Amino acid sequence: MSSTISTLSEEDRLRLLRELSDRLGADHVITDAGEIKAASLDSRRRRQGEALALLRPGTPEEVAEILRFASRSHLVVIPQGGNTSTVGGATPNPESPLNARTLILQLSRMNRILGIDAVNGTMTVEAGAVLERVQAAAREAGKLFPVSFAAQGTAQIGGMLAANAGGVHVVRYGMARRNCLGIEVVLADGRILNLMRSVRKDNAGYDLKDLFIGSEGTLGVITKAVLDLSALPAGRITVFASLGELRAVEKLFTTLEDFAGPSLTAFELISKPALEPVIAAGRKAPIEPSDWMVLFDLSYTKREDPEAFAESLTDALSPLFEDGTLADAAIAQTETQAEALWTLREEIPTAVRASGGNIKNDISVPRGSLCAFIEETYVRFETEAPWLLPMIFGHYGDGNLHFNLGSKPDFGPGYWKAHEREIHRLVNDEVVKFGGSVAAEHGVGAKIQVLERTKDPLELELMKKLRGVFDPEGILNPGRVVRYPEDVWQNPKEAWD
Ligand SMILES: Cc1cc2nc3c(=O)[nH]c(=O)nc-3n(C[C@H](O)[C@H](O)[C@H](O)COP(=O)(O)OP(=O)(O)OC[C@H]3O[C@@H](n4cnc5c(N)ncnc54)[C@H](O)[C@@H]3O)c2cc1C
Repeated sequence: MSSTISTLSEEDRLRLLRELSDRLGADHVITDAGEIKAASLDSRRRRQGEALALLRPGTPEEVAEILRFASRSHLVVIPQGGNTSTVGGATPNPESPLNARTLILQLSRMNRILGIDAVNGTMTVEAGAVLERVQAAAREAGKLFPVSFAAQGTAQIGGMLAANAGGVHVVRYGMARRNCLGIEVVLADGRILNLMRSVRKDNAGYDLKDLFIGSEGTLGVITKAVLDLSALPAGRITVFASLGELRAVEKLFTTLEDFAGPSLTAFELISKPALEPVIAAGRKAPIEPSDWMVLFDLSYTKREDPEAFAESLTDALSPLFEDGTLADAAIAQTETQAEALWTLREEIPTAVRASGGNIKNDISVPRGSLCAFIEETYVRFETEAPWLLPMIFGHYGDGNLHFNLGSKPDFGPGYWKAHEREIHRLVNDEVVKFGGSVAAEHGVGAKIQVLERTKDPLELELMKKLRGVFDPEGILNPGRVVRYPEDVWQNPKEAWD
């Protein structure tokens, strides 16, 4: 495609909308300016794009029809689930010259749970099903769908898979990819690719499913999935603890892993400055906050006695109180108390946003190097950016932290805004040095320049080639993940460096 087709006459605009209405029905082609504006704004409210229309197909065949039509008519298609992407992945690029040709493809009507096979431990769903509903359906069937994160009440299965979401249970169950056995995908040219297998062993050639998962809407539109369900734990023991110092987290984690094995289902690290806005907003910590805290879950099965399990946990932890690894700890006595402890963790992003926001880095490094990474970056902050207030929290068990950085109160809450780019660079350079990932679980989205600066050139070249194979016309979510030569939508100004 060339930039000469970026403009659209009013006559062409009306004709395209009419033809789309003929295919989907007028009710499912939304041209209301307010609705388009809302759907074109990213979840962090930082990028207001524009679009020609919102499309709400009801079947994979209608998705196929849209993509065939878009290919023929040089229209851009952005698949959109719950629009909770934190990296601008599900909304149009604000500076794109081709927003007039952009269709936002919303999967929300395709939201059925198609069936549960309790013996196989699988659930078949349409891509627009909301994650929380899927979790509830699994529970009703006596099973667990373990992918879980704060946006689960809005995020959809298609979006979750396209983003290969992680969340709080990765330490035990892995990311979305590990919890999905099959998918159906509509390709950019409108062909429907059926990869709806529900087996756990399949070495018959390349694993195309795993390629689409995590492709952020750039290789195809996911329309259905076979989800892998796990055994439902009978309950959990939730503990909120304060550490003697940062390095104590290593000893606590390995002690718990040795003690609990696969029962360790979540392990989060929280720094004091990350928790403070939650406390300031009215929540109460169960113990005196220290510089570094942890929140973890141990799940138990039906055959385990919860009281005996809690007692043996206390025994396992008691040496850690004696040697100063742990300063204090609160064990939830009821599920309501456990939920209250998790609320402290889950409200961090909203409370931080309300208190002035911060620079967001979604990074991972090998767990064994995570403390060294934190210590080294903190030293650099002291000399190179003494105004920074690190507000770190996240999934220590996965080596993944939300390495978020605000400004110290003396500098004013929004001081960080003028320094975002240089701080991202500093953090990303350290991440690369420690052998980590600059996009650990939220995906790449609009951060394509970050990838270009940090990825091995050969790896990047192969990614671009793959993108060209699946979407030769460049109609799917342009300017996201990786660019390729015809990617006329990419505007370097927009990228996060
Ligand atoms: C408060 C909050 C907390 C979060 N916490 C976590 C966390 O702990 N761990 C974590 O991993 N993530 C987290 N996220 C990010 C979350 O994983 C993603 O936002 C979510 O998985 C995306 O689902 P969605 O339906 O909203 O997709 P969208 O945001 O709509 O889309 C995400 C990407 O997928 C593409 N896409 C959407 N649907 C399809 C489809 N059917 N086919 C192909 N491509 C599609 C879009 O084009 C876009 O690139 C959090 C987000 C928020 C807002």
